[in-house]
Amino acid sequence: MPLTVQDIRFVCFDADDTLWKNEEFYRQAEKEFARLLAPYWSQQKAIDLLFQTEMNNLETFGYGAKSFTLSMVQTALEHLPAQQTAHAVSAILQIGKRLILQPVELLPGVKDTLEKLTGKYHLSVITKGDLLDQERKLKNSGLTPLFDHVEIVSDKTPASYRALFVRLGAKAQEVLMVGNSLKSDVFPALETGAQAAYLPSPFNWKHEQMPEPENPPYLKIAGLPDLLSVLL
Ligand SMILES: [Mg+2]
Repeated sequence: MPLTVQDIRFVCFDADDTLWKNEEFYRQAEKEFARLLAPYWSQQKAIDLLFQTEMNNLETFGYGAKSFTLSMVQTALEHLPAQQTAHAVSAILQIGKRLILQPVELLPGVKDTLEKLTGKYHLSVITKGDLLDQERKLKNSGLTPLFDHVEIVSDKTPASYRALFVRLGAKAQEVLMVGNSLKSDVFPALETGAQAAYLPSPFNWKHEQMPEPENPPYLKIAGLPDLLSVLL
């Protein structure tokens, strides 16, 4: 067991693809985007062009659905003939709005798990992305009352985790960070001295992908309810 359970007093959860489905809706949106470029580019090439634009824009626009929409617009402008772009931009705005307004779908056992942990541990959400977007998802999830603290950050780095722990009044080793991204949730939290649980997700953005170490210094779980047998 890579956790020191008796030290844990704070449990911090990532949100997208940890509490609710997210990435699969982006994969769907990418395919819809690729259809707009289909006369000129293969589906894979269109998705690759979009990914490259997103990476180039990350520092300027940050994460989230609005940034993703702007990157779709830019990719269409750069890779479609001028006479096609007005139609494409209008269709892209529809794709982006559908993505933003997609109803929240909780992952299995999330609500029950949080209900059993709340009151016994200090529970936080730490998520990156667009502020309005994440606030809306959290509100629509119905989970807000189960959390003691909500933190929406522009990026998840060891420094942003350290700042969070200071605000919580937590020592790093008292914190268990739970998330679906090794790159954003698990490794930067471990670097601060916190503990971590990794919940692999069937859909993972290329930007977040990372190989798993042979002897992982974190707990790997198949679903959030697996935490109950460890923490309770
Ligand atoms: Mg996530």
